[in-house]
Amino acid sequence: MTDELQRWFAERVQADLGIELSDAQLNQYETYYRLLVEWNEKMNLTGITERGAVYEKHFYDSLTLGVLPEAVSARSMADIGAGAGFPSIPFKIAFPQLEVTIVDSLAKRIRFLQTVVDELKLNSAVLVHGRAEDIGRLGDHRDRYDLVTARAVARLAGLNELCLPFVKSEGHFVAMKGTDHAVELEESARSIRLLNAKLRYTRSLQLPLEQSERQLIVIGKLGKTPKEYPRKAGIPLKQPLI
Ligand code: SAM
Repeated sequence: MTDELQRWFAERVQADLGIELSDAQLNQYETYYRLLVEWNEKMNLTGITERGAVYEKHFYDSLTLGVLPEAVSARSMADIGAGAGFPSIPFKIAFPQLEVTIVDSLAKRIRFLQTVVDELKLNSAVLVHGRAEDIGRLGDHRDRYDLVTARAVARLAGLNELCLPFVKSEGHFVAMKGTDHAVELEESARSIRLLNAKLRYTRSLQLPLEQSERQLIVIGKLGKTPKEYPRKAGIPLKQPLI
């Protein structure tokens, strides 16, 4: 059974983002919403708990990745600093064949995500507890993913050093940003170059009801990550490559 909000969500996602969702998938979003609100009472996962707002600002916002050909054609994805699971869990629900790896440095968020993965019966979803600077040096994760994402983790110049080491040659890093990304983009030019990548393009979108602006910044990886990156945990955000 789906209700008015779920039908609105399915219609918007289909019309704006070109993503078709079945009733089974809509039920998965609803279960995710319930788990989020339930666990949020015990730990800090999100400031947004009103049902319509979660569907728009977390689920729809995560699914805006669907407008990017680089994202929908990806077979593997790593989400760095996913927190309560954004954008990777909503995107994985919509594209169940995608192999998803989630990295977060906070153990209790990883425990929450394990419950979500189990309850939603998501296959090929790997949860890694650790700092991106350390995990990005491991052979299983370095230069390995078609698509790497990060939403609301850090400013772009520092974020590039956390995320680009995970991207395979010819793969893409998508930074999900709000307004005011122009200065960030300017100050990120050096980090992009040093990490053997290239800015491809930026795509602007708006949330359907709230109408606030979103930017998807698409950065392509040109080859392997130079061996000096990422630097030791803590350094990339404290001393970004500006
Ligand atoms: N991406 C989610 C979202 O959009 O709602 C969560 C954003 S939350 C503000 C930032 C998350 O990044 C937190 O869960 C934090 O634990 C994680 N994080 C911060 N620095 C990190 C690092 N160096 N390595 C891995 N995770 C990190």
